[in-house]
Amino acid sequence: MPKRTYHIETLALHAGQEADPTTMARAVPVYRTTAYKFRNSKHGADLFALRELGNIYARLMNPTNDVLEKRLAELDGGAAALSLASGTAAVYFSITNILRSGDELVSAVNLYGGTYTMFDAILPQQDIAVRFTPANDFAAVEKAVNGKTRAIFIETIGNPVLDVADIAGYAAVARKFHLPLIVDATFTPPTLLRPIEYGADIVIHSLSKWIGGHGVGIGGIVIDAGRFDWTDPKFAIYNEPDRGYHGLRFAHDLGDLNPVAFALRLRTVGLRNQGPTLAPDAAWQFLQGVETLPLRMARHSENASAVAEYLKKHPKVAWVRYPGLEGDPSYHLAQKYLPEGKGGMVVFGVRGGEEAAIKLVDNIELFSLLANVGDAKSLIIHSGSTTHSQLSQEAQAAGGLHGDLIRLSIGLEHIDDIVGALADALETI
Ligand SMILES: *Cc1c(COP(=O)(O)O)cnc(C)c1O
Repeated sequence: MPKRTYHIETLALHAGQEADPTTMARAVPVYRTTAYKFRNSKHGADLFALRELGNIYARLMNPTNDVLEKRLAELDGGAAALSLASGTAAVYFSITNILRSGDELVSAVNLYGGTYTMFDAILPQQDIAVRFTPANDFAAVEKAVNGKTRAIFIETIGNPVLDVADIAGYAAVARKFHLPLIVDATFTPPTLLRPIEYGADIVIHSLSKWIGGHGVGIGGIVIDAGRFDWTDPKFAIYNEPDRGYHGLRFAHDLGDLNPVAFALRLRTVGLRNQGPTLAPDAAWQFLQGVETLPLRMARHSENASAVAEYLKKHPKVAWVRYPGLEGDPSYHLAQKYLPEGKGGMVVFGVRGGEEAAIKLVDNIELFSLLANVGDAKSLIIHSGSTTHSQLSQEAQAAGGLHGDLIRLSIGLEHIDDIVGALADALETI
């Protein structure tokens, strides 16, 4: 019989796991080990020389993480994946797995606060310049690209005002200049959007958010679409012999694995020599989240949509942004890219500006005031004074962040309770 191709709901439960042959455990076991035995010295030597792939030391690989990596690679339609200690590490090590000192990155400006600071303040310390461009402004992207550019970076739904990226448009520019397109898809897990289908080369998720889904851990994952050609000499670290690997050239010397040179280098250089490893216990927790991801994303989206519709009609609300709201600047892009649901984030402003916004945030019941998104529980924050406070006033304005902005991450509580809490809090201002 031909092998069936399974739906995403099925893959979320089964992809990447082969039952442990010794115990036949149904669930994925947590492999708490630091190292793995070699059959003999030759086996060890073959593993070290990459003549054979297999477990060596748990900084580089772990069977629990391996299931998570294979499962998410399959959900996202990628060829290989690598789990890392945080979403931030996933972003940082993806960049430095391509760029080195003297290279440049072109990035959309509407970023997660921590990523913006990394690009604006940290990468330049390593002589990697980042050129920021307004959301979906492809003319600006083309203008920002120059002979030193080595990648283009975007988020699927940008911070803080939830602009949906026109991924196919960015992919076209990336192709034109033969640059990899890196997409942080944290706000749109693969049951909502698979950027590789629209031309992304590398996809990043913070696992700490919806994929884990329960606010219980920090982790990140990088997925390699496996189709970018790294043999272009401008990608120096793929074409020059690597001193850390007996002169191996990652773009040329990997045989069958050449298509996933990016993922393999991230493991053998990023994890092996720089060490941002995800602990297997955390990987196991994220796997529990993945199992119910399709169900949860549908409900997050349904609840967030209802909240956006409610706020839009409220007399004390000045404005609302939700990609699923008719008339929203991102509505048409959301129709194209997010047919399965527009995600769990809603942002809005209240009449009365910043002072009223802070009063609402301080008085709301049920919602937790904290700096996180993608928990099963509803969350609230005033972005200007917290998550994006490192940004200058100008950078905040350029990203569309205004003082009255309240950010909601809508959870899985009953929708009447969520709306009720917002109604009561709006009464207080
Ligand atoms: C949270 C987040 C990150 C960083 O992930 P951590 O796991 O917190 O390090 C990066 N990008 C986006 C869009 C995020 O929401």
